[in-house]
Amino acid sequence: MPLDPRRTVSDLEQLRALTANDHGAQRIAWSETWLKARAWFQSKLAQLPVEHHLDAAGNSWTTLRGDSDRALILGSHLDSVPNGGWLDGCLGVLASFEVLRGLAEDGKPPVTIRLVDWADEEGARFGRSLFGSSAFAGTQTIQADRGRTDRDGIRLEDALRQCHVDVERIGDAAMERAHAAAYLELHIEQGPVLEGMKLPLGVVLGTKGVERHAITFHGQEAHSGSTPMAVRRDALAAAAKLALEIRPIARKHPDAVATMGSVKTFPGIVTAVVGRCETTLDMRDLDAGVLASMLAQAQEASRRFAAEEGCTVEWSRIWSIEPIPFDPALIELCDQAVRETAGTSHRLPSGPLHDAAEVARAGIPVVMMFTQSLAGLSHNPAENTKVEHLELAVQAFDRLARKTISTLSPAGTAELSP
Ligand SMILES: [Zn+2]
Repeated sequence: MPLDPRRTVSDLEQLRALTANDHGAQRIAWSETWLKARAWFQSKLAQLPVEHHLDAAGNSWTTLRGDSDRALILGSHLDSVPNGGWLDGCLGVLASFEVLRGLAEDGKPPVTIRLVDWADEEGARFGRSLFGSSAFAGTQTIQADRGRTDRDGIRLEDALRQCHVDVERIGDAAMERAHAAAYLELHIEQGPVLEGMKLPLGVVLGTKGVERHAITFHGQEAHSGSTPMAVRRDALAAAAKLALEIRPIARKHPDAVATMGSVKTFPGIVTAVVGRCETTLDMRDLDAGVLASMLAQAQEASRRFAAEEGCTVEWSRIWSIEPIPFDPALIELCDQAVRETAGTSHRLPSGPLHDAAEVARAGIPVVMMFTQSLAGLSHNPAENTKVEHLELAVQAFDRLARKTISTLSPAGTAELSP
């Protein structure tokens, strides 16, 4: 039977019926509902000539053996945030399943095809995103995460043991990297860009680097009635100037974003000039040089505004990650697959991180394909994509997989970058 993208849509509907309630998807990693989703997925594999195992970090691997051990990996994640949508993650797993099914029906493929359902992409329960893929990539150490607990005080270690994962051994998931030659992931965009361009599909250039900082302005608390305007050292005034200045700093670059997401004032009462203002800044871009220059400009501006308001400012980094560009040769193949399927392609960076970024950090050639998200909504039960776009996405992803297999086969001509 040829590829049947409608079957992917009906699989997604089945999974929604099985794992969502009135508030949306509830497939939180390491929960009963997540295990139920995984068991349902397993049952679908039964009629295929594949092997299945869980690795040491709880990633679920389905392998269709080929003539060569060189492996093309397809995948995404079945886990969701609480009250999540019906497509985030599971679209990539179920589209990969449809592609795998078609390849299995064609007979033994020239290279091995592996489908991975990464464990705990979302980090919704323990605050550790990309859990399984980072164990695979070797970028995760359990030392940093051992102390994590969920809202009910249940330890990460104990929740994982319930799912037969021993935290001491998660590093063994790196063994799955053997023979990995390329990784492809289909995902909803989770943003408004493709819809704004009226395009169903896009090619992802990589994931943006992130600079996340706490910025505190120090001024002088003073009585709101007795302190003349001219002598105030108002920490909020300095912070407010910065909140406006980060917008032109980011707008100089087409894909850059900068967000001041939190502002706290102290003493925070109606009758006092703000003596201390704590803010946060999150900046992202795909280009490391652009990101570094945005950060430098924001730091310079904060010092200037602090001086103008008689304040001082201090910065401390909360978290950062470098931009992770995807493989140029796979980006080309993905572009071809999208154009052949939908007529027009568009290349865009991803603001959110994805498991694909961890796979790329492990040195494996990677590309992602996005399909349009209606109103750019995700992590929300309103998350949606037109059915015709979902079907195009499955077709284009199948094309991409087949093109990649040709380049990986001994007869293939193109070379993927290492
Ligand atoms: Zn996702």
